[in-house]
Amino acid sequence: MKIHEYQAKELFATYGIPVDRSIVCRSVEDAVKAYSQLDSQKVIVKAQVHTGGRGKAGGVKLANGEVELRKHAAAILGMDIKRFIVDRILVGQAINIVKEYYVSYVVDRKSKSTILMLSKEGGMDIEEVARTSPEKIHRFVIDPSIGVPDYLAREAAFKLFDDIKQVRQAAVIFQKLYKLFVATDASLAEINPLVLTKEGDIMAIDAKMTFDDNALFRHPKIAALNEPTEEEKKEQNAKSKGFSYVNLGGEIGCMVNGAGLAMATMDMIKLYGGNPANFLDIGGSSNPTKVIEAMKLLLSDQNVKVVMINIFGGITRCDDVAKGLLEAFKQFKTDIPVVIRLTGTNEKEGRAMLQGSGLYVAETMGEATEKAVSLT
Ligand code: GDP
Ligand code: MN
Repeated sequence: MKIHEYQAKELFATYGIPVDRSIVCRSVEDAVKAYSQLDSQKVIVKAQVHTGGRGKAGGVKLANGEVELRKHAAAILGMDIKRFIVDRILVGQAINIVKEYYVSYVVDRKSKSTILMLSKEGGMDIEEVARTSPEKIHRFVIDPSIGVPDYLAREAAFKLFDDIKQVRQAAVIFQKLYKLFVATDASLAEINPLVLTKEGDIMAIDAKMTFDDNALFRHPKIAALNEPTEEEKKEQNAKSKGFSYVNLGGEIGCMVNGAGLAMATMDMIKLYGGNPANFLDIGGSSNPTKVIEAMKLLLSDQNVKVVMINIFGGITRCDDVAKGLLEAFKQFKTDIPVVIRLTGTNEKEGRAMLQGSGLYVAETMGEATEKAVSLT
């Protein structure tokens, strides 16, 4: 689960990590009010959306004076950044930046640990740095039984700073950020950029946190910050109906009984040159209501051009499945072509029942996939 920068900054502040003074606003009028409260000639106006790269998208602007503030606030509110519409902006005291650094804790699969990542090349081009000069990114594997002791925090800080005063300030920030990361079951805590100011201080001027969904039950206050996207809402809705559903953006809607078979179905679609719209495991039963619910879910996705149903009848008998499908499609009308691959126990009877139903019936996965791809 993601949270907004302003929410992450509040968490940072409670853990004693220095952040710039800022106020979240929902309108230009709010922003003007915030401006007078901040008592600073120059302010920074930042879009609050659940995606990175806001700066490059024009969602971060420096304003010198109230007139510019109004202009930027009006332009950023309502902006579309990677399909997120901006409904909140953060207005903050502008910081005089000398240099920008990158700092994050992230769960790393390779070392099966939390790692501390650091770079002197922080700021908006960090992805480029990671790609072209990976040696400029330092990694420290954190032993969970030791955490981040003073010596390690200082060793890390020396990768970024030479001045001992700055090293000490940064080391403390690294330790506090780790404490926050662990205490909240985060999977990412990122400061990009951590900055050295003209006044010689070190502070976080951006804050990003992602939390492990499976641990949210332990953190009701963080869980309350959840703002699911349309896609996530759909996935949660599917989950509440007993389906396991993941949107994948392609055009072939998939309905499969069993997670392994669903995975294999995605692979087959790719192999035949198509793109799955989703992963959907409807489980074992052939209950018509379940099929109808699953069809509604698939067809709520505008991209879906064909539906491919892949059923392996093991304990579930194919003739039962066929009965369920016929019942479902009697109640549920659609113009979208539906391909059904039905195999396993009583498959011949099952397929025979579906003849003349208007559904495309296939015996093998290859046959069904080829048909589905050609129909798109
Ligand atoms: P992101 O692009 O979504 O990561 O947004 P950031 O919050 O990191 O802002 C992007 C860039 O804006 C930073 O890398 C800074 O260069 C710049 N920036 C952000 N806040 C300030 C500020 O207070 N003063 C100045 N001068 N620049 C800022
Ligand atoms: Mn940033």
